[in-house]
Amino acid sequence: MTTPVLVYYDMRMLGHNPHGWDPSHPAWTDAVKAMIALQYPNSNLETYSHPERPDRLTAIVDRLMLDPIEGVRWMLPAAASTAQLERVHDKTYVAHIESLEGESCWLAKDTTAVSPGSIEAACLAAGAGISACEAISAGEARRAFCILRPPGHHAHSDHASGFCLYNNLAVTAAHARARLGYERVMVWDWDMHHGNGTQEIFYSDPSVLVVDSHCAAPFYPGSGLLYETGSGAGVGSQINVPLPLGSGNAALLKVFDEVVKPAAKAFQPDILLVSSGFDCHHLDMVCAMDETGFAILAQRMSDLADELCDGRLVLLLEGGYNAQALADSAHAVVKVLAGNPVNACNVMPDDPGCEAVADAVQFHQGLNTRRA
Ligand SMILES: [Zn+2]
Repeated sequence: MTTPVLVYYDMRMLGHNPHGWDPSHPAWTDAVKAMIALQYPNSNLETYSHPERPDRLTAIVDRLMLDPIEGVRWMLPAAASTAQLERVHDKTYVAHIESLEGESCWLAKDTTAVSPGSIEAACLAAGAGISACEAISAGEARRAFCILRPPGHHAHSDHASGFCLYNNLAVTAAHARARLGYERVMVWDWDMHHGNGTQEIFYSDPSVLVVDSHCAAPFYPGSGLLYETGSGAGVGSQINVPLPLGSGNAALLKVFDEVVKPAAKAFQPDILLVSSGFDCHHLDMVCAMDETGFAILAQRMSDLADELCDGRLVLLLEGGYNAQALADSAHAVVKVLAGNPVNACNVMPDDPGCEAVADAVQFHQGLNTRRA
C-alpha cells in the first residue's frame, strides 16, 4: 500500500556554489591554498572543485524524476526566519552569516565557504525540516525526506564548520519543541561523520535524545567518543557509537537493533528525525554500506515511528559526495518511506563495525546500570 511521503526541495539551494573561483580572487589567500593542499593533496587549484557541490542534489532529484515513486509529493520549503535560527544559534553568529548575503568568502579552516547564493540556500535548508514537521503536524503526511544543502550537522551554535552554515536538524528539532507540541525529539545521525554541532547544541538538553553512529576519531571531526554522553540535565541524552573505517550494512543494522530501538522505547519520542548522510556508502570510499542498507534502516525507522509516535519521521540530507551513491541511496530510502517494504539487505561477512557496536552497547548499558 502506498504511503504519502513529502519530499522537500528548492532549486535555489543550488545557488550555494563555492566552486570554481578565480585563483587570483582575493579570497584565495595563501592560507586558503595551503588549507586545500592539506585537505585535498591531489587537487589542482586551477581546477579545484568544492566537494559539497550542487550536483549532489540534482543527482538525487533527477533520479526521483526519472524513476518516480508513487506516493511522493514534491514540496517547497519555507526559508527559516532569523528567530527560528536563533533558537539554536547565537544572535551574533546569525547576524554574521546574514551579512554575507551576496558575498564570497571562506568561513572555516576545513573548507567551509560561501558564494553569493549561499545564504539564501542556507535559510531554505534550515527551513526544510520545519516545513516538513509543520505539514506532518497538520496531518498532511507522516513521513518526509528533505533534499537540502548546505548540510547542517557540523554547524555549532556560534560557528560554521564542515561545509555546514546552519544546523538544519537542530533548527528543526527546536521548532518541533517550541511550536508543535513535541516534548521529546529523538535523532539518529547515521552520517559517516560525527554530528559535532548537533551534539554541542543539545548537550545539556534532556528533551532531545541524539544517537550518533560515525567513523571514530581521529576521523573528521575527531569528536563523538563513547564517554561524551551529555552534561548537566542532559547526561545520557547523547549516545555515541564510534565505528571503524570499513563498517557496512550489518554494523548499522546492529546500531538500530541494539542502540536506537531500545533507546527510543525508553525515551518515548514524539517525533523521529534522521541526519541522513549517505557517505557510509562504499562508493564514498571509506565505509562499506550500500543502498540496500539505507533502505532497511529507513524501513526500521518507519516501523519504530509507527510504533512510538504515530509514524512521524523526518529525514534531512547531510553528507555523501558520490553522485551515484546519493541518487541510489536517496531513491531507495524514499521508496521505503512511500510504503514499499524491504526485508533484507546485502551483508558482507565479518563486518568490522559489529564488534565496535557491541562495545558501545556494553558501555552505554553500563552507564544506565550505574545511573539506575
Ligand atoms: Zn558526512
